[in-house]
Amino acid sequence: MGFLDGKKALVTGIASKRSIAYGIAECLHREGAQLAFTYQNEKLKPRVEKFAGTFNSNIVIPLDVSSDEEIKNAFKTLKSEWKHFDILIHSIAFAPSEELQGTYIDSVTREGFNTAHEISSYSFAAMAREARPMLNKNASLITMSYLGAVKSIPNYNVMGPSKASLEANVRFLAADLGPDTIRVNAISAGPIKTLAASGVSGFRGLLKHVESITPLRRNVTIQDVGNTAAFLSSDLSAGITGETIYVDAGYRNLGMTFVTN
Ligand code: NAP
Repeated sequence: MGFLDGKKALVTGIASKRSIAYGIAECLHREGAQLAFTYQNEKLKPRVEKFAGTFNSNIVIPLDVSSDEEIKNAFKTLKSEWKHFDILIHSIAFAPSEELQGTYIDSVTREGFNTAHEISSYSFAAMAREARPMLNKNASLITMSYLGAVKSIPNYNVMGPSKASLEANVRFLAADLGPDTIRVNAISAGPIKTLAASGVSGFRGLLKHVESITPLRRNVTIQDVGNTAAFLSSDLSAGITGETIYVDAGYRNLGMTFVTN
């Protein structure tokens, strides 16, 4: 018996076994949830189908969130499999790699700013709207943020404002959906080596820096994030909504980075 027995979850954003969404899928599956998955393009379809198989799922749906039509169609397709569901995992972000290096002031462009916000933030609200009629009572929507939402981080650049917008999205969606007993939260994860993270210039140095000074003296894993997502997906977290929960080995609480031991 797991604490997600009987719950159904749509998981977006699996690109590889290192994806944060993969760690989340592992933990939701372990706790008994049934899973459905999305993939961004045909090239990724066979890979996501294989991952779905390992979680006893054959629901694999195309979804490129840059298209409103694809967002609508994805939920139509899901409806043909499940009339209602309980958990939505939004684990999607994108910014042009040229904008994830150098200074923010010099790298940010109108087009990159719009793209980063559209894919990484707006898509969560758009998916929540389409999902709403299909959500069961006590449903939980979860998205993935990063410290760059609230602090300036070298090279994270345009993703910072996008994550700030995403966290604001969480608060507004939580206010709208709360009366229907639907909860909306973000997890702000510490840095983890994934495909998306590799696009941020100097990422390896960031991992080393965090490991050397963060209170727990280690980087977090996709399972650390997955376990928190499982908790937030479950009725164990019934009183939590509109929050950004940090899973970062304590990094964001540091005021000073001088290491004494
Ligand atoms: P990842 O494995 O590369 O996952 C990113 C996912 O976003 C990929 O599946 C990617 O699909 C998808 N995506 C990008 N554009 C899309 C679009 N237009 N439509 C649909 N899907 C799209 O990297 P990750 O690190 O796990 O990222 C997942 C989330 O965690 C992101 O929101 C990221 O910002 C956040 N996060 C990551 C870290 C970290 O250090 N890794 C820390 C905090 C928060 P394709 O591969 O097909 O493009």
